Amino acid sequence: MKVSNLGYPRIGAKREWKKALESFWDGKLDAPGLEKRMKEIRLDHLQTQRLKGVDLIPVNDFTCYDHMLDMATMFGWVPKRFNHQGGPVPLQDYFAMARGKQDAVACEMTKWFNTNYHYIVPEYEEEMEFSLLENRPLKAFREAKEELGIDGKPVIIGPYTFLKLSKGYSSGQFENLLNRLIPLYIQMLGELAEAGCSWVQMDEPVFVADLSKEDMKLAKEIYNQFKRAVPEIHLIIQTYFDSVEHYEDLISFPAAGIGLDFVHGKTGNLDSIRKYGFPADKCLGIGCIDGRNIWRNHLQETIRFIQELDDFISPREWFLQPSCSLLHVPVRKDQETDLDSVLYRSLSFADEKLEELHLLKQALSHGSESISEQLNAAAEALDDLSTHEMRHRPSVRKHLKHLREEEFNRKSPFQIRQQIQREYLQLPLLPTTTIGSFPQTPEVRKARRKWRIKEWTQEQYDEFMQTEIQKWMQIQEEIGLDVLVHGEFERNDMVEFFGERLGGFAFTKHGWVQSYGSRCVKPPIIYGDIEFRSPMTVKESKFAQSCTEKPVKGMLTGPVTILHWSFVRNDLSKKEVAAQIALALRQEVQSLEANGIRIIQVDEPALREGLPLKKKNWNHYLEWAVRSFRLATSAVDDRTQIHTHMCYSQFDDIMESIQQLDADVISIEASRSHGELIQTLRNHSYKKGIGLGVYDIHSPRIPSADEIKTQIEHALLVCDRQLFWVNPDCGLKTRKQEEVIHSLTHMVTAAKLVRSEI
Ligand code: GLN
Ligand code: ZN
Repeated sequence: MKVSNLGYPRIGAKREWKKALESFWDGKLDAPGLEKRMKEIRLDHLQTQRLKGVDLIPVNDFTCYDHMLDMATMFGWVPKRFNHQGGPVPLQDYFAMARGKQDAVACEMTKWFNTNYHYIVPEYEEEMEFSLLENRPLKAFREAKEELGIDGKPVIIGPYTFLKLSKGYSSGQFENLLNRLIPLYIQMLGELAEAGCSWVQMDEPVFVADLSKEDMKLAKEIYNQFKRAVPEIHLIIQTYFDSVEHYEDLISFPAAGIGLDFVHGKTGNLDSIRKYGFPADKCLGIGCIDGRNIWRNHLQETIRFIQELDDFISPREWFLQPSCSLLHVPVRKDQETDLDSVLYRSLSFADEKLEELHLLKQALSHGSESISEQLNAAAEALDDLSTHEMRHRPSVRKHLKHLREEEFNRKSPFQIRQQIQREYLQLPLLPTTTIGSFPQTPEVRKARRKWRIKEWTQEQYDEFMQTEIQKWMQIQEEIGLDVLVHGEFERNDMVEFFGERLGGFAFTKHGWVQSYGSRCVKPPIIYGDIEFRSPMTVKESKFAQSCTEKPVKGMLTGPVTILHWSFVRNDLSKKEVAAQIALALRQEVQSLEANGIRIIQVDEPALREGLPLKKKNWNHYLEWAVRSFRLATSAVDDRTQIHTHMCYSQFDDIMESIQQLDADVISIEASRSHGELIQTLRNHSYKKGIGLGVYDIHSPRIPSADEIKTQIEHALLVCDRQLFWVNPDCGLKTRKQEEVIHSLTHMVTAAKLVRSEI
């Protein structure tokens, strides 16, 4: 039995990593200063892992931005626009690829599988030369050895995953590019072997996705080549986030070990093991501690589970490991001094997870009696949590149990509602609106902070908010928008805001995880039944409505998004938790309606990212996701108009579900991908209100009225003019006041021009 870690959080318990990076970008730290700081952090993390009893300590999991970007730059995959001069990619170019520079847009960033971590998408370009510009894993291995005497286990993204997640080539080129990558990997592994490295972790998470048999054949051939070229290296092929798709093929790969996720892919992987066994000549990496959530492990149950496995397979060796890299959880919990003590004891962040692995090793090597005290403590902590009064609110459970089918449906179908709403709202053709937020200026943030630390009274704070809302109501009136918003100035974050006002959530002080680059998020913890306490958004919306004759759009975050952007309790299914959130939001929607709000938008930007990795599981997910949205939004009268918003434009494969949300109007991102979206809409006509974002809010650029007019005209080729809305791509909180006023003025001008022509 060995404890093997798959990756350690980079950001540091006090976000030292983030701070160092940002000081460098701000010019407060020079390159040698940054390198020095990064090294200190890196070594400190290795040291911690050693102290926690990790036998196979990962190296090269550390990065100055992102591990995929590291791979791409190491292979010389630097797009021409960055004008790289050859040789190892200097920090400057590396960061330019990640963040863009004056004359070159940044590389695309996208979600790492179904997590909230974003990686930089490697971009292949024709004529790119493939060569190993530097051997980062080797550098990391040597550093750990020389500085700390640690025999590290380099972590490398495997070639199959690397290429599958890259872009810029056609499917016909895949095999050829893969073959061109092989020598680079072989060189990397060869140099590692020469330096005395024996274990290497090759991450191939794509093996849990929908690959074909052909893919597996091709992949096996690569691993055969690795084995032939560098036989001394013990390769562990590591999978995570779900069960392996073609397990029977994977176990025939010439690897020294295979790592499986027994948390998020437990059923599938277990079924495969039962059916095909596990080779006696390979080590089994048993991912038994959840690397993506923050709950303490029920050690006794895990021990039982491994002992059962042991009854019918005999791998060469067992590696006890987290289900995936610990990148997705906060560093350590001892900084959380303000949490409910029951909750606190039931938590386990990265460092605690390593301790849990060590305990498992002890129990499995020397018998459970050797750590009976710790086993009891774990069981007790989880027991206390499960009997916590927050955990089970009879009123919520009862309400959910007795929901009737009609509570998931609006009273009348869309066609009828549309007529009624037209009468009620009296909007012009091509109504103009925005997505919700207006600039979050330093003053706005300061006001929230003062209120939070009680430097300001509630009255002072309310007064500030009212002034801000009033100012923006006037601006919107002057611009001539048709449906106004209050601006979301009271919200720090679209999930945290609601979490703080609903029962069942807890918030950490330091529970940060990396989202992308130096950007960290602090997901709320859903640990109890979700309960609606009192209206959360009525005050602001109602005030805004009192400032205008025009309809003000109420603004909520949807159940699926709140769920995905939180750490969720694991004793209930996501479906059940989503239903609880939906039920609470339903009451908010009703309160808004009762207070004269005629249009309510429920944002679901995370609907798509929650899609399971395997297509066969999509239906189940989409079904409950859609139902939770409908539960939240269906209680209103026919005349109340429900909007939803999503920040992406890829809809072709989930169009059906989007329709089923039965929102009266949907607004989506479109300005950067107009062509694609138009095509989608051509193929699947959308029969409800739709607003295609007519300009990109991510850029400070002010679009001209003409340009927006063209966008609208294009959209009208496929969208019914009676159903079309004019709005920006997303919220405007990151923009400056002047930019917003200019852009929106042009937008309204464009809408009026088109109206006058049709
Ligand atoms: N209503 C939110 C805003 O405008 C929507 C944010 C989002 O889609 N991520 O800021
Ligand atoms: Zn958005």
